[in-house]
This record gives sequence, structure tokens and C-alpha cells, in this order.
Amino acid sequence: MEQTEATPIVPLEAGAGPENPPCPACGEPLFGWIGGKAGLDGPVRRCESCGLAIVGEPGGSEAALRELDSLRLEDTLRIENRGSFACALGGAGWAGLHPGRRHLFTVEAVRRLVAQRDQVVKSARWRPLAGLASTWQTLLNSVTFGHDVALGALRGVPAVRAERPWQRRIDGLASIVLALPALLIAIPVELAGGLCRRGAIVSLKLELF
Ligand SMILES: [Zn+2]
Repeated sequence: MEQTEATPIVPLEAGAGPENPPCPACGEPLFGWIGGKAGLDGPVRRCESCGLAIVGEPGGSEAALRELDSLRLEDTLRIENRGSFACALGGAGWAGLHPGRRHLFTVEAVRRLVAQRDQVVKSARWRPLAGLASTWQTLLNSVTFGHDVALGALRGVPAVRAERPWQRRIDGLASIVLALPALLIAIPVELAGGLCRRGAIVSLKLELF
């Protein structure tokens, strides 16, 4: 008779260590996600529990809240959703990886973070057009040398240009030639994301407890 062994269930906490510092939002260990990449201040780790990702060394919840507050637009916070379909599809090519950005938020990560200062997320609304633009850029990033080149040119989004002139010329050409095909793929991806609460751009309203 064949012997089968039960698969041991390991809690996430067991992965904690110097390589896996705690998530500033929920305290679970962070795991490696993306190695060094041009334009980023270090490797990126992510939390398997709330989805928050951090570029370089984590600086605690105050630093995360400070960056979150910098995303305020009038009375809402607008996040590029690290939990979006676009991000899952794009990986290192995800359009939300901007130079200088340290914290990459999900709705759940924001919920956990703001709870630490007695706030709740009152509403989370998908922004379809902004989300579509971001998802489109994510798809273009998979064929360009630079990062966020098209939205950098069209909307002034912080972009990383390719190093060499010939690469920049190819990036410009690819962004034009593939604009429409990328849009035709981005539409169903972002639509599905929005319907599953995993849209690329989300506006959040906060409220005190
Ligand atoms: Zn977390």
C-alpha cells in the first residue's frame, strides 16, 4: 500500500526573517517580487496577505501613510491598484511602477493602514478611463525598452526612457504602431478587472471611525 503524507500547513509568519521584514499595513512577512529594475530604488517585495508592495527597505506604517496621503486629489485618494488584473498581467512591466515610488497600494492595504489612525475606507470606486489608460500602458511596457513611455509623452506620467537613442526611437515607433492592438487587449482586461473589483485605478474615500 502506498504511503501518503499530509502536506504540512505553514503559517505565513514562519517566513518572517531579515529577508522578509513585516508588512507596514498588516504585519505579515514581505516576500521578494521584482529584482532590481531601472528607475526603481531597489528590489520590490510584496505582502501575500494585503497585497501592499514596497520598493527598497520598508520604512514602517508612518512612511506608508505619508505616501498614501500624497496621492490625495481633493477629498479622495487615487491609487494605482497593485491588486489589479493589469498588475497581475504586467508584473515588472506594470505601469504603476514609477521612479521614486516606494509604496504600491491595494484597497485592502489602504484599509489596514488607515485603520491604524482610526479611519475606515468609506467607498472604493473604480475609475474606468484612467484604469484603461494604465492597463494600455502596462501592455505597451512589455514591448518597449523604456517604461511608461506613452503616458509619459501624453500625460506627463513619470517615465523611464530607454538608455540609447536607437532604443528610444524603437519605443516611440512601437508605442504608435501597437497603440491600437494594445488598446483592443486592454479593454477586456480592464473591464474584467473593474467588474471583479480589481480595476487598475481606484478612488477611495476615507472616514473617521
Ligand atoms: Zn500586508
